[in-house]
Amino acid sequence: MGTPAVEMSSLAKSFGSVRAVDGIDLAIEDGEFFSMLGPSGSGKTTVLRMIAGFEEPTSGQIRLDGQDVTGRPPFARDVNTVFQDYALFPHMDVLTNVEYGLRVKKVPAGERRQRALAALESVQLTDYGRRRPTQLSGGQRQRVALARALVNRPKVLLLDEPLGALDLKLRRAMQLQLKQIQREVGITFVFVTHDQEEALTMSDRIAVFSAGRIEQVATPATLYESPSSAFVAGFVGTSNLLEGEVATSVLGRQGVFSIRPEKIHLDDEVAGGDTTTGGVVRDVVYLGSVNHYLVELDAGPTLTVLRQNLRGTTDQAMAMRGRRVTVGWAPEHVIELARERDRERHQERHDEKEQTWTSQ
Ligand code: ATP
Repeated sequence: MGTPAVEMSSLAKSFGSVRAVDGIDLAIEDGEFFSMLGPSGSGKTTVLRMIAGFEEPTSGQIRLDGQDVTGRPPFARDVNTVFQDYALFPHMDVLTNVEYGLRVKKVPAGERRQRALAALESVQLTDYGRRRPTQLSGGQRQRVALARALVNRPKVLLLDEPLGALDLKLRRAMQLQLKQIQREVGITFVFVTHDQEEALTMSDRIAVFSAGRIEQVATPATLYESPSSAFVAGFVGTSNLLEGEVATSVLGRQGVFSIRPEKIHLDDEVAGGDTTTGGVVRDVVYLGSVNHYLVELDAGPTLTVLRQNLRGTTDQAMAMRGRRVTVGWAPEHVIELARERDRERHQERHDEKEQTWTSQ
């Protein structure tokens, strides 16, 4: 692998007594679609703002394409940022908005126009150059904001919840478009979101944030199938945790485990090699193409079971409320979570670094 597009080492940021970013080590590869995913307040935006240069780290380093840029102002970094609120100039038409960055850089008029038109074409807005931002839909405005960043051909594009203001349908359409544009232009995208589905749809890799730290960095499939902690299992999908005495009685094993809702069989679906246990359906949630059955196990916890609506009527599904059922799953679908071990490893790495520094 070549030099990472973005590299952070021991990156930290405090606002007064709030430790917003608590020691992050991360390398984002050139050309990657990389997402930072986490709940509100977990530090994603602060990391993005430090990469952009809008925020100074309290400690640690940021390298762009191998060069240490810590302390450099935003304009001296080869990155551009796209924000949720678009930040378009309302009094300028679309083409002038897109050209703006090139005008500031004193790029000659002919080249400016040519590059702006190419950027508009990449977001499929070729015929919209003469409109004002107010004459566009939310999705179109967001694409203009994207074109305005792409026209500068930055090495890295930073996107802070850029689809947050769009309705669900448009958001999904834009997710696919964004991914396609990223593939075409080949620029490294660093994308901040709190929406797990969005991150899974678009990303090559995802970093899951919690309380200013990274819990896990992995591909979407690995995050979903092998989450390293209970936090990741719960944030990326529904976790269905079994731990403590429940794990011992239901699974015959000690530790913390997760079983995804779609891997759990109900009654007639239970297969020969399955681990089985009993429970009562406490609720049925109708979701159109699928139903969620909330099954309270005799052992205590409630598991969410997902069933596709392939057969039977909605009334039949709803009539399951209050019924006793058998649930089962193939043993290989039980995910063992290493919550405590992970924390220890993190601490060990931290200690090792402290030792290296003190011995230097
Ligand atoms: P969201 O998804 O809500 O945007 P986030 O994961 O991006 O959240 P940050 O915006 O990075 O989180 O904030 C991390 C923590 O730092 C929060 O506790 C926040 O209140 C705090 N914080 C962020 N910016 C400032 C600031 N300028 N002054 C003081 N505290 C701040």
